[in-house]
Amino acid sequence: MNPAVWVERHGRARPDDPALADGERVHATWATFAVRTAAAAAGLRDDLGLVPGDRVAIVMRNRPEYLEALFAIWHAGLVAVPVNARLHRDEIAYILGHSGSAVALTDADHADDVELLVDSVESLRAAVVAPGERWDRLTASAPTPLVERQAQDPAWLFYTSGTTGRPKGATLTNRNLLMASLSYFADIDPVSAQDSIVHAAPISHGSGLYGLPHIARGAVSVVPHSGGVDGDEIAALLQRWKGVSFFAAPTMIKRLTGDPSITAADLANLKTIIYGGAPMYLADLEAALGVFGPRLAQIYGQGETPMTITALSKADHADVDHPNWQERLQSVGTARTDVEVRVVDDEDNELPAGEVGEVVVRGEVVMPGYWNEPEASAEALRGGWLHTGDVGSFDAGGYLTLRDRSKDLIIRGGMNIYPREVEEALLRHPGVGAVAVVGRPDPEWGEAVVAFVVASGAAAPDADDLDRTCLESIARYKRPKAYRFVDSLPTNNYGKVVKRDLREQLRNEPEHG
Ligand code: AMP
Repeated sequence: MNPAVWVERHGRARPDDPALADGERVHATWATFAVRTAAAAAGLRDDLGLVPGDRVAIVMRNRPEYLEALFAIWHAGLVAVPVNARLHRDEIAYILGHSGSAVALTDADHADDVELLVDSVESLRAAVVAPGERWDRLTASAPTPLVERQAQDPAWLFYTSGTTGRPKGATLTNRNLLMASLSYFADIDPVSAQDSIVHAAPISHGSGLYGLPHIARGAVSVVPHSGGVDGDEIAALLQRWKGVSFFAAPTMIKRLTGDPSITAADLANLKTIIYGGAPMYLADLEAALGVFGPRLAQIYGQGETPMTITALSKADHADVDHPNWQERLQSVGTARTDVEVRVVDDEDNELPAGEVGEVVVRGEVVMPGYWNEPEASAEALRGGWLHTGDVGSFDAGGYLTLRDRSKDLIIRGGMNIYPREVEEALLRHPGVGAVAVVGRPDPEWGEAVVAFVVASGAAAPDADDLDRTCLESIARYKRPKAYRFVDSLPTNNYGKVVKRDLREQLRNEPEHG
């Protein structure tokens, strides 16, 4: 089925209710959203000559037109290529070329860059700026009926964030998107037409995917005017909209937890905060639960299985009397309803609970492969299971705890050290605001542990003191050999710490200290 059917349906059934909002202001009712979608679809076909299956890139910051563009693409039977708009122009060019995008829908902020690409990216025939004159023309076309699509047809090429190597486009089919949406209802939250989703994170990524079950149910999609996460603005939106959910990376949750406008805000309209995409540290989660109460749900997923591998439910977060509550808070929860999840060894043999191996996933939500990357697809999907590259273990109750990605593992003198446990230990020190632990080549031990620390206050904590904190909870050999005190950690566009940059920085230091 074609997800654009949802917009069409609500356009008929609830024409005057708000569908899209620009901050506190209604941008479109369902009737308007449905008409603009069907009209722009006709324009994409007639004005731009696109035929079902053609790829159309969206290079826009979050704005209501983003969702109009996305659903117009689907309405016309086209394949959307949502591109992270904060990428460098060369990276955008790569994705447009690799996906063979014929048209790019963009906004004023990116128009100059994207228009230049029409000359250099072979497949790209046109750039359309929304809002803008040509977009207005497209959305004023005579509406066209919805184009029928099959479950296995591609709908969204999801380019991975690429903390290593070139990004690859996970081909997400209509079936994958439908399963991800249904499994949201099964494992995260039911959604009603009285609810809303605030797109505080990029629509090109998790927030857009979590937006789908909301559109399916007729909830309002609210795009913050700032285009991002701002405490004052979120507080104001919580007064304006009801049943609010939003998706945020752990770094954003941490920022909001410490934001005075959030701590002072009335949270009655806040329904659920879904966090994931990177590790959430226990100390930060406990602080967030203190501010937000039992409204937090964690998801673990990746673009290849659109944000659907495991979840730690709101009920799990609230179950404070459970003897394993704290361990569970450090886990990523249990397998989602629509997938099988296993932990396997190097030969893909399933490992029992308690043993650490690679996490593999199978189910209807898993992509059929990467776009035009047969070798990488075969490798990732060998034996019919998606190999996530993540390392973890199940406990007896089925809760999965992730270690680090295999490339981040530090091997010191033959002993495995998971940076995460060192990071968790250091975060217990009140003087540590944020921390990232990486390995550095070491002539004696093979690798040495180095911690990059961002102080929580004005002064950097004392290294001996940090050592003492580590020794309270982890083995002596895991303790950092060196500390680097920094103002901030390098993060990518999704707020994930890029450890590669830290390793690089250490390699470029004149002498090991
Ligand atoms: P992406 O496809 O860009 O969203 O990246 C997916 C990767 O982010 C996963 O393979 C994990 O390494 C990491 N990730 C996602 N969710 C979580 C989570 N809840 N906790 C820790 N890491 C996560």
